[in-house]
Amino acid sequence: MIPYGRQTISDEDIDAVVDVLRSDWLTTGPKVEEFEAVLAAFSGAQNAVTFSSGTAALHAAMHILDIGPGDEVIVSPLTFAASANCVLHMGGTPVFADVCPDTLLIDPQAIKKKITANTKALIAVDYAGQPCRYQELNTICGEYGLTLVADACHSLGAQESGVPVGRLASVTALSFHPVKNITTGEGGALLLNDAELADKARIFRNHGISTDHRQRAQAGRWDYDMQSLGFNYRLTDIQCALGISQLKRLPAWITRREQIASRYDALLEALPGVIPIKRREEVVHANHLYVVRIDPERAGITRDEAFARLREKGICVNVHYKPIFRHSYYADGFELDDSDFPSTLTAADQILSLPIYPAMTDEDVDRVVAGLQDILQV
Ligand SMILES: *Cc1c(COP(=O)(O)O)cnc(C)c1O
Repeated sequence: MIPYGRQTISDEDIDAVVDVLRSDWLTTGPKVEEFEAVLAAFSGAQNAVTFSSGTAALHAAMHILDIGPGDEVIVSPLTFAASANCVLHMGGTPVFADVCPDTLLIDPQAIKKKITANTKALIAVDYAGQPCRYQELNTICGEYGLTLVADACHSLGAQESGVPVGRLASVTALSFHPVKNITTGEGGALLLNDAELADKARIFRNHGISTDHRQRAQAGRWDYDMQSLGFNYRLTDIQCALGISQLKRLPAWITRREQIASRYDALLEALPGVIPIKRREEVVHANHLYVVRIDPERAGITRDEAFARLREKGICVNVHYKPIFRHSYYADGFELDDSDFPSTLTAADQILSLPIYPAMTDEDVDRVVAGLQDILQV
């Protein structure tokens, strides 16, 4: 079986976790600060604030921007539901804008059509690990007074025009789920370039309390004050130790992912019915996913047939994503005009994620391509 994605865990990772288990602090200890410092240094962001998941980080992003009832936030529909759910958690309204047909990244022209007097923010999703058109998105956000949030759960380690993920938007959300570029089991973070927003995010992840128990212990004090309503969204020291260890190997993993993507690109030229998603020239791509379209006319089979036949061969392809507004929870209250989403709806029936992960061998890539060649009806 070739999985579509897989984490890479080394003996160093295991040792780092075991060391924390033997230490005094299992959570809210020194490894949290250390992971936040190395994440900020790696990305060039001023501040990193860790969370128990990428979903919690996105929720915190909406909280620190004071999103609430009546506020609209523009989001790509071709993403994991958490990208839009965070707006709902704050009582705001996610407003979907179509993606570009070639890159499947949110389309700046579609965004402009969706901006109203109530629009407060834009959540740009770096689909498959490719940064969005941030230069254009920043211009639009500046013009209309919106805050730009990057859902960079796929793209840690990527860049646009030499600017790393973490400095491309005001607020950047990361995930450390095992299929993502680095893992802490579950986990996430916000990268920020504003100390006040970072403080607000830290308070939100700790019930709305401005001090943590380690600071209090060190200051010899017991009292604490809950200033706002927050959650327990903390990441443990056990997980942060794993994250620190993983982050050291991310540059090498990005290089390997790029080699795998290039090999797919070259081999798939021989299969006209299988079309890789376009890569922007200005970016260093994190290649979290390797997505192709199965063009039913030229391939002679549909995406769903390709999915089933490849799985039978032990090649675990996947689909990223069912458009958010197609989930039944979103069926009521989101009266959408299909003609607003031609690119999302066409892609939704054609996209297929082929296996990609750092430990994947060239032979594995060849086996996936041979499997595709086998099932095409041309
Ligand atoms: C994984 C993911 C999330 C959620 O992250 P979790 O850590 O699983 O909560 C949000 N957005 C996108 C685009 C993701 O891929």
